[in-house]
Amino acid sequence: MTFSTLGLSAELLRAVAEQGYDTPTPIQAQAIPTILAGNDLMATAQTGTGKTAAFTLPLLHRLAAAPAKGRTRALVLVPTRELAAQVAEAVRAYGRHLPLRCAQVFGGVNINPQMRELRAGVEIVVATPGRLIDHLERRTVNLSGVEVLVLDEADRMLDIGFMPAIERIVKQLPQERQTLLFSATFSDAIRTLARRFLRNPQTVDVARRNAAADDVSQSAYLVDHARKRELLAHLFDAQNWQQVLVFTRTKHGADRLAKQLDKSGIEATAIHGDKSQNQRMRALAEFKRMKVRALVATDVAARGLDIDELPHVVNFDMPNNPEDYVHRIGRTGRAGQSGAAISLVSAEERDQFAAIKKLVKLEIPATTVEGFEPQHARAVPAARPSANGEQRHRHAQRGHAARYDKSDGNAKHERRRNEGAPASRNGQRRPEKNGRRPFRGNAVVG
Ligand code: AMP
Repeated sequence: MTFSTLGLSAELLRAVAEQGYDTPTPIQAQAIPTILAGNDLMATAQTGTGKTAAFTLPLLHRLAAAPAKGRTRALVLVPTRELAAQVAEAVRAYGRHLPLRCAQVFGGVNINPQMRELRAGVEIVVATPGRLIDHLERRTVNLSGVEVLVLDEADRMLDIGFMPAIERIVKQLPQERQTLLFSATFSDAIRTLARRFLRNPQTVDVARRNAAADDVSQSAYLVDHARKRELLAHLFDAQNWQQVLVFTRTKHGADRLAKQLDKSGIEATAIHGDKSQNQRMRALAEFKRMKVRALVATDVAARGLDIDELPHVVNFDMPNNPEDYVHRIGRTGRAGQSGAAISLVSAEERDQFAAIKKLVKLEIPATTVEGFEPQHARAVPAARPSANGEQRHRHAQRGHAARYDKSDGNAKHERRRNEGAPASRNGQRRPEKNGRRPFRGNAVVG
């Protein structure tokens, strides 16, 4: 299938060709004709599937087909600033041969330039709900002429607590409109949202529900919480990682880890909600240009990041919400590229890990790296004697650990292990053989 069979205008086909796309992705192939036919749409599509173009192209087609200058005719609501900037960039790229203007509206930056832009008249507004409410209150935007509403990453907007803001915004829109809802994961809350705001929607579900992207290899290392940073630094060196997105649970944790990685010679920067918009943009730009090897992010901040061909995502902390795992690993293996998602799982995170495996319906292999075997009793559940399969698995894991050892034969790693060895209760370091902690065996968690 090619884009020309989808019914898009010549200007849009030209812009698509200029982007270098020759084949529509599955979500594009299914969603574009449905949207062009004027239907409401409820689509589950993971990040990285090409969903932005799936709604932007038919939206631009519709607006260009019946020009009405200077009125806000399409509203795209997104959960984060970064995603707003990215979607607006995509709208401009795909709409470059059309006389349509697009404004991006989000918080964390001065409101005045946005007010000027909106007052001058734009046809498309891409906004985060909070800042859009500010503009509604200041009467700098009029939504009474909106023909198309897009709720992008709707599940995330609900998670962040944007539902009341969305309700307020939707009240300002005409009843007669086309509404498109995109969500990476399906939940009852999303269905309720769809029932409220959509009319007889067509559904498109290109991804297995709640399943992670197929082209991402997923694995986990069992490690004590206290040694995660050390193991991460070791993996950077042993596997020569150059561009890794690392997830932590807290903003403070992101800052601390970025500093620690930097100190151990791995250029790193943090991105989270307490950083100004300019700092976040700068951090992302440095990471994209590979000036830093690690971008340490919290879930909310990372939402919507589009980094082409990102090879590795590391879950330094396991997410409390298993669906966040799907979003996190959606950052890698985008648009057909293969990627690896690696989770560092401590004893305390066993339950989260089990919930994630259940959600993605996958037995994510969990192994240990030699020299980093967990010492914490809960991280190494006693091997069940009857489980032959498990025994086989454990042999395989040892082989895996040994492979790492080969690439880890230099003095730097030995020193780092010793320095990082956690002290026992009386403040003494635990006894180690040859600078390594005693081997206590591997086991699959959860
Ligand atoms: P999205 O899921 O919208 O965030 O898109 C993920 C990435 O896929 C973006 O970098 C797009 O530029 C890219 N992309 C979107 N559609 C296509 C296509 N048909 N062929 C190749 N790449 C695409």
